[in-house]
Amino acid sequence: MIKRFLEDTDDTELNKFVKDFPGNESYHQPEAKTRVSRPQVSEPRPQAPELYEDDLEFRTPSWPQPSDSQQYCSASAPLSPSARPRSPWGKLDPYDSSEDDKEYVGFATLPNQVHRKSVKKGFDFTLMVAGESGLGKSTLVNSLFLTDLYRDRKLLSAEERIMQTVEITKHAVDIEEKGVRLRLTIVDTPGFGDAVNNTECWKPVAEYIDQQFEQYFRDESGLNRKNIQDNRVHCCLYFISPFGHGLRPLDVEFMKALHQRVNIVPILAKADTLTPLEVERKKRKIREEIELFGIKVYQFPDCDSDEDEDFKLQDQALKESIPFAVIGSNTVVEARGRRVRGRLYPWGIVEVENPGHCDFVKLRTMLVRTHMQDLKDVTRETHYENYRAQCIQSMTRLVVKERNRNRDRSRN
Ligand code: GDP
Repeated sequence: MIKRFLEDTDDTELNKFVKDFPGNESYHQPEAKTRVSRPQVSEPRPQAPELYEDDLEFRTPSWPQPSDSQQYCSASAPLSPSARPRSPWGKLDPYDSSEDDKEYVGFATLPNQVHRKSVKKGFDFTLMVAGESGLGKSTLVNSLFLTDLYRDRKLLSAEERIMQTVEITKHAVDIEEKGVRLRLTIVDTPGFGDAVNNTECWKPVAEYIDQQFEQYFRDESGLNRKNIQDNRVHCCLYFISPFGHGLRPLDVEFMKALHQRVNIVPILAKADTLTPLEVERKKRKIREEIELFGIKVYQFPDCDSDEDEDFKLQDQALKESIPFAVIGSNTVVEARGRRVRGRLYPWGIVEVENPGHCDFVKLRTMLVRTHMQDLKDVTRETHYENYRAQCIQSMTRLVVKERNRNRDRSRN
């Protein structure tokens, strides 16, 4: 939107925009971090990094007062463990390391520090689901995160759906697992592909994604950048019908319009309606068409060469599963003496989490366990950077145009 706005605006509007832009807000002193005061000691002591309240989780350290028998010493000659003052940092203190660790400075604890801070802050992830209605999007989301995100959903009649335009709805839920909090936002696109004429029905979706980038761009260009709410869409599961022959024109149009904005993960919906051979054939056809139409779906990062063989095989299997053929179910059934999520048919049971029945587990592993952070990184480093670069380019172009115009005016 910023881009479009910048291209369309005249000088008066540009001046107003530049005036209103968050970077031009009157300066507010950012909240200063309170330094944790330490007792003053005259003897030289080991240098510890400066501490801020934010960095401390549970307690403020009380530095030990040196007694006559204790001497602080330089890092080149650490004291024996018994002679050292007890550290308030316990195991994280380099001076609390064992006698063998004479070379231990302490930065090996950096991952622990990052881990503790991240867990305290919590994580967020925004997932978009798109595809024609009835393909099992809501059922799959509920199955993936074991929640009921669509409790208040109102299903429209066929008549209402003809008139309906594409809407964008958001459901947010806080999930906690082993002390790790995840704020999950699901963005749904009801009405997509439902109308008689679906020309450009991807537009509201693209606009929504751009709006989130725009909001983030404004927020991070402002003075107070603390606690920015990040609503950028990290991944879009695009549902492809199992009943067609590969991709439909609408699928191609949607993915081509969005692949530069978001990580698209194609999904072959309702895989239980197909035989294993049909699943294989459809997957191959879809992969070929993705290639043919130049669609850039999310690319799994390459494995490091020093990864173990099992991991490499798992990674390879994940890459070859695209598009993930999935089955969703909100019901628990009994299969072989176990209660499992599945679908009960007169001829048997299909189990959602059985790798022999579908790719649900692979999809969940990829989305939650192995690639969630990569999806966020690609969103930040590629899709958002593209948007930001375009914005800055348009703004610069306008400023130059404006300067030239002013110069011409002053010459005349
Ligand atoms: P949405 O409109 O895309 O959100 O689709 P829903 O999740 O509401 O599902 C529409 C219908 O398809 C419901 O009756 C579901 O029970 C059914 N359904 C959902 N997932 C599957 C699946 O994997 N296989 C089959 N056969 N039916 C499914």
